[in-house]
Amino acid sequence: MSGTPVAVVTGGNKGIGFAIVRRLCQQFQGDVYLTARDPGNGQAAIAKLQEEGLHPFFHQLDIDDLQSIRALRDFLKEKYGGLNVLVNNAGIAFKVLDSTPFPVQAEVTLKTNFFGTRNVCTELLPLVKPYGKVVNVSSSVSISSLASCSKELQQKFRSDTITEEELVKLMTKFVEDTKKNTHQKEGWPNTAYGVSKIGVTVLSRIQARMINEKRKGDHILLNACCPGWVRTDMAGPKAPKSPDEGAETPVYLALLPADADGPHGQFVSDKTVQTW
Ligand code: NAP
Repeated sequence: MSGTPVAVVTGGNKGIGFAIVRRLCQQFQGDVYLTARDPGNGQAAIAKLQEEGLHPFFHQLDIDDLQSIRALRDFLKEKYGGLNVLVNNAGIAFKVLDSTPFPVQAEVTLKTNFFGTRNVCTELLPLVKPYGKVVNVSSSVSISSLASCSKELQQKFRSDTITEEELVKLMTKFVEDTKKNTHQKEGWPNTAYGVSKIGVTVLSRIQARMINEKRKGDHILLNACCPGWVRTDMAGPKAPKSPDEGAETPVYLALLPADADGPHGQFVSDKTVQTW
């Protein structure tokens, strides 16, 4: 088993994830894994970074596929005995003009952004070593969408005692409510992406609390963040930030120094803790 520190980035083949991998290759003292659901796209991304003189490793990971997540988990356990840095970057968004029915958009978006990210966390968080860092790439849209929720939902999502099971129930309820076309009456905002990212931010707050309760003394720091509005296939060419600029906050959180005792359980954008 290798004692080399190891960092893993999900959705690393393009966009912000690719830029995060590049920066980690430059700044992280250890092995950096670019993961992608499509091995061809992943290997092409690895080749690009190799041309820049960088040496990322590749492992397949589709966060929608529990078997794929478990294969990565077993690989990390066997080869490294765990992991030091996890960046949950993979995510999807339907285009504004997409004509896919809203209930389908809700189901598909929540499946990857919330349930997929949660499954990765369920399988990999127990492997995170002391002084490890976990970064869940959410979005500032989670804050604006929270503000559009009913008072009752806002209270639940801001609660310091909400459990992961309660959050999963709420995310499932949103998808069901969209199918009955009752989601707005039930206090939800009219954005599947926004609700999925509320889920990612609240999940991060819960996970940080669990780390405090169960792994006190391990100095693990876990946060949600927004990369900003970034020129990628997701956000389009008009966004102000380059992918490299978008990588700045996630990488800052991934490389917090060993003696840092925060941020932890926060929503961070532009390297600054935001009020949830
Ligand atoms: P992007 O260019 O569309 O890249 C998304 C990445 O996620 C791709 O590598 C994609 O892989 C991967 N992915 C999607 N579903 C996956 C799955 N099931 N398993 C594994 N990988 C999967 O988007 P981006 O702008 O870089 O977004 C990265 C993250 O930042 C997302 O979580 C997004 O919500 C968040 N974000 C972006 C912005 C922005 O302005 N761009 C703003 C706020 C937050 P494929 O190539 O195979 O599709």
